[in-house]
Amino acid sequence: MRFESPKRVLVTGGAGFLGSHLCERLIAEGCDVLCADNFYTGNRLNVAHLLGHPRFELLRHDITMPLYVEVDEIYNLACPASPIHYQRHPVQTTKTSVHGAINMLGLAKRTGARILQTSTSEVYGDPEVHPQPESYWGRVNPIGPRSCYDEGKRCAETLFFDYHRQYRLKIKVVRLFNVYGPRMHHDDGRVVSNFIVQALLGEDLTVYGDGDQSRSFSYVDDIIDALVLAMETPDEFTGPVNVGSEFEFTVRELAEKVIELTGSGSKIRHEPLPTDDPCQRRPELSLARRHLGWEATTTLDEGLRRTIEYFHALGAEAGR
Ligand code: UDP
Repeated sequence: MRFESPKRVLVTGGAGFLGSHLCERLIAEGCDVLCADNFYTGNRLNVAHLLGHPRFELLRHDITMPLYVEVDEIYNLACPASPIHYQRHPVQTTKTSVHGAINMLGLAKRTGARILQTSTSEVYGDPEVHPQPESYWGRVNPIGPRSCYDEGKRCAETLFFDYHRQYRLKIKVVRLFNVYGPRMHHDDGRVVSNFIVQALLGEDLTVYGDGDQSRSFSYVDDIIDALVLAMETPDEFTGPVNVGSEFEFTVRELAEKVIELTGSGSKIRHEPLPTDDPCQRRPELSLARRHLGWEATTTLDEGLRRTIEYFHALGAEAGR
């Protein structure tokens, strides 16, 4: 009889919105999961249901510091991802992306682990090419309020590719487009959570600018599928690969949809557009289709319904 030991997987940012869903999935697939989080935006409650599991371990750790553990795979998710969070401590945001990438790549180099970086559509900045293919280099302001996130994530990609070229590390770089779903912060300022919570509370929905700016919203379960598939691709495939929904909605359309799905009496209120807010964003997905065999399957209506249920159950009405 042969006993195979489970794959040991490190998820940084594992107690965050995306990370907690990924930890769940990896445990369900039989992996041994080490979840590392400094709890800046992550929350123990997101993984509370996993705590007693024999193949789950939670570690308070900030990836700007080195980490010495033995692992076979690393999913590097740690970084505050919503504009209000990443702009609150911009220097720490850049450090998390850059020093964090160096530390995690160093760990991958020592252990021989595969390592996946969750990058972002923000690397395209306010794009002049639409939809955005991976070959597009982007249009990013290097000195604006969003730069700590955008440039931090861009530099992390650079580091991933340099470690790959210089040390032959097995890397995967995945660019995510506006992910939403249960376990988003109710007050993290992102548009989907803001609108749902406002609608449930009967408050005005705050549409920034005229609401004609667009995004492609991706439901969390679809994104987790894509991350796991990306990690499993052959070593030659490094990405970067876009992952997201190809259905694009304006922010005004999103507001109207949320009002309709919640049955709320809320109205729309316009507020000023934040600096450097991208006008449009939609992924070009042929690489994801070809290399991951992946396609998002959750419609915006269905994903919003599940997210509304989550916030409803959380007691969003009970108040902030
Ligand atoms: N937005 C909005 N009202 C809000 C929050 C965001 O109109 O209460 C807009 C924001 O200006 C942007 C879009 O929604 O155009 C998506 O914002 P989010 O912060 O969710 O993501 P990102 O800007 O990083 O794509």
